[in-house]
Amino acid sequence: MSSSISESLSSNRILVVEDNPVNLKLACVVLEAAGYTVLKAADADCALDVLTEAVPDLILMDLALPGTDGLTLTRYLKDNHDTKGICIVALTAFAMKGDEKKALDAGCDGYITKPIDTRKLPGQIADLLRQIAAQNP
Ligand code: MN
Repeated sequence: MSSSISESLSSNRILVVEDNPVNLKLACVVLEAAGYTVLKAADADCALDVLTEAVPDLILMDLALPGTDGLTLTRYLKDNHDTKGICIVALTAFAMKGDEKKALDAGCDGYITKPIDTRKLPGQIADLLRQIAAQNP
């Protein structure tokens, strides 16, 4: 009965920006299994390259990246006409209290704490996409 909802959410494209290869792989496998089309980037430069080719519905953004960090990249994307409409969800380390506020201040639409809970991740993403869709009918 809820299949039409999950199908429409599953057609969404997600860019995962994460420098840790194990976390990147884990997030991609889980999201692909949930039916999402997943794009990957290991750092900010790589993410910008991907974004010249494809505009995802949502970016899962690790905040701690080598080179340009995730908060700086988020501010840049939210300042840019072509990318400001993309939902950005920060991936924050559980131990780093205060990161959530920094993420929201930088323009992130939500955050998910690491370590990633593979059972919860697809539902967390679907909830955020639903919230964004409700805000922009
Ligand atoms: Mn990192």
